[in-house]
Amino acid sequence: MSFASLGLIDPLVRTLAELQYTEPTPIQAQAIPLVLAGRDVMAAAQTGTGKTAGFALPLLQLLTMAGSTAPNSTRVLVLVPTRELAEQVHQSVCSYGASLPLRTMVAYGGVSINPQMMKLRKGVDILVATPGRLLDLYRQNAVKFDLLQTLVLDEADRMLDLGFARELDAVFAALPTQRQTLLFSATFSDPIRALAAKLLRDPASLEVSPRNTTVKAIRQWIVPVDKKRKPELFLYLLKKHRWTQVLAFVKTRKGVDALVELLQAAQIPSDAIHGDKPQPARQRALDRFKAGEVRILVATDVAARGLDIDALPVVVNFDLPIVAEDYVHRTGRTGRAGASGEAVSLVCADEVTQLAALELLTGQTLERIEEPGFAPEHRVPVTNTAGEVVKKPKKPKKPKGDVAVVSEDVRFRR
Ligand code: AMP
Repeated sequence: MSFASLGLIDPLVRTLAELQYTEPTPIQAQAIPLVLAGRDVMAAAQTGTGKTAGFALPLLQLLTMAGSTAPNSTRVLVLVPTRELAEQVHQSVCSYGASLPLRTMVAYGGVSINPQMMKLRKGVDILVATPGRLLDLYRQNAVKFDLLQTLVLDEADRMLDLGFARELDAVFAALPTQRQTLLFSATFSDPIRALAAKLLRDPASLEVSPRNTTVKAIRQWIVPVDKKRKPELFLYLLKKHRWTQVLAFVKTRKGVDALVELLQAAQIPSDAIHGDKPQPARQRALDRFKAGEVRILVATDVAARGLDIDALPVVVNFDLPIVAEDYVHRTGRTGRAGASGEAVSLVCADEVTQLAALELLTGQTLERIEEPGFAPEHRVPVTNTAGEVVKKPKKPKKPKGDVAVVSEDVRFRR
């Protein structure tokens, strides 16, 4: 199937050829004709499926074919949960629309609002924004929505997880009721369904991978380990598997910094992305990682949302996520655009409830592979896909001839 056969105009088709997108991904093949026809869409699609082009291409076309913007107005609003995703979506919009005479902009918090207000003066065709900053702009009369044709909610589940429900309601109240609405979400919990029921009109439902499952091409397993030995195990696995690049998830900001410190002490190029870091530092870390200057990028869930890294081979869950859906998001960072990937989780006994929850969500029991020398003293209880802890295992016998691969001097400082 070609992009032209989906009804896209020549300038877009040419741009896609330049980007070497040879054919539409499944979500694009389904979404593009529906969006062009003006339908509301509810799509279960995670990052890596090509969903951004799935909504951006037809919207760019609709904007080009009819109408123009006005001062302090936008015709399309794309709401996203994080600054990183805002940047990434905006970059995609810019590259897809490079040959079209449209104005786009991105707005998020943590940076000065004034340049954003200035830029909005002339009006834009597409505004990509995080909910909080958008509301600030709206309340300061920098943006109005009289001309709004389409609202896109990208990673809607994440927006709710991050506690944006109130901001979202305030934004919805400010939008015209006559509009097209597109809702993308990796997972569909009851609150997301309720949101969709409230916002969408006779939506077409699309699903590109089975509900709440992680991408099949990704090999996933867990390594049971005692909590205090996770840093050692991480270094051991790095060496054993010779991973070229790893995105590692850690529960807390302090934990992220501690792991980066440990890696740097071991001469492993690494950097951190978390909410305490200013936006330019986060962007720099991501750029360096993409350029291959940084081998290990350590992140919290919030900060990692929306990271688009081509061909990322490995995701390591140094800590399991508190919210089971985050496992799906984290795992989706690897194995993108058809490439295969690996996702390994270092799991200690304290995390068994989280393990059971994510296994229930994804409907699979993760394979356990113990590493010699790292068998935990506190065994991780057995779980099943019903989200139950099946039995409390017996304490293991003291392992003979324990092989400690990493010496004491690289101990993790928490
Ligand atoms: P997304 O799910 O929108 O974040 O896109 C995931 C990645 O796939 C991005 O790096 C896109 O540039 C890339 N991509 C999107 N659509 C296509 C396509 N039709 N062919 C090849 N790559 C694509």
